[in-house]
Amino acid sequence: MTRLTIAAATHSGSVREHNEDAYLKGERVLAVADGMGGARGGEVASSTALGPIAALDRQEFKDAAAVQSALRAAFIAANAAVSRKASEEPGLRGMGTTLTAAIVDGRYLFLAHVGDSRAYLIRSGQLHQLTHDHTVVAELIAAGELTADEAAVHPLRASITRAIGVQADTKVDLLTVELFDRDRVLLCSDGLTRPVSEDDILSVLRSEWDVNEVAQRLVQLANDRGSPDNVTVLLLGYEEATPSGNHDTPIEFAPTVEQSRDSVPDDRISEDGASVSRSRWHWITILMLVGLVGCALAAAIWWLSRSF
Ligand code: MG
Repeated sequence: MTRLTIAAATHSGSVREHNEDAYLKGERVLAVADGMGGARGGEVASSTALGPIAALDRQEFKDAAAVQSALRAAFIAANAAVSRKASEEPGLRGMGTTLTAAIVDGRYLFLAHVGDSRAYLIRSGQLHQLTHDHTVVAELIAAGELTADEAAVHPLRASITRAIGVQADTKVDLLTVELFDRDRVLLCSDGLTRPVSEDDILSVLRSEWDVNEVAQRLVQLANDRGSPDNVTVLLLGYEEATPSGNHDTPIEFAPTVEQSRDSVPDDRISEDGASVSRSRWHWITILMLVGLVGCALAAAIWWLSRSF
């Protein structure tokens, strides 16, 4: 038996009048969208994109592949819906939005992501970023042409390379993570991560478990730092009545892999092409142990037969 608690908090920030961020807080689905496009455009783009994601909350899935493909299909539908609205209304032309969405099914978190909003896993007091920013500066950092400090003040730091609603086709990053008792998952717009450092985000998370309290505190912290942007925070808490794993074991996260529309991983722990699922590793470990024990027995029999 597991218990999911989802909290959300948002604020227009200390400078902007409108809040172009939108969020979705369902029973087991959560999402953040950070709209752009001037006038009404940003608000319309972010709220429109969440429509197909909301429908996932009521669906049943037969396996992991079904969740991933429904999530991917919802992103494609969101892209089409925002594009359609932008082409129908001249005042909305050019609008778009980031979209980061998560769904919990059983012991697994399924994540899909486009843009520069972020998802983090908080486990054993550590913060693990699950998403890659689709930004110009993130690409320059990855290419070794920019440091993180330089990126923070770079004139193109707000330029995103992928968004929902601006292209006919958009690539969606998909990631699946096995959850353990008292894991928390943070989804947020860049209105949190630009003014507030990861160290400061982590201090708030370490000081309090309650997801509602933490979500409010993080938004307040962004405002205290004079965030010029809209800020949105969603926090999911995952608790098991009978914890089934050792959540103190540090887990290594491989980078999120870019998935095109036609390639969906069927593994429950889809991290990168080289990694395999946790259960498969268990079998490999068991087979290696059996082999080692066999070798030791053979050596002992050989040694005994020589000694006597
Ligand atoms: Mg923003």
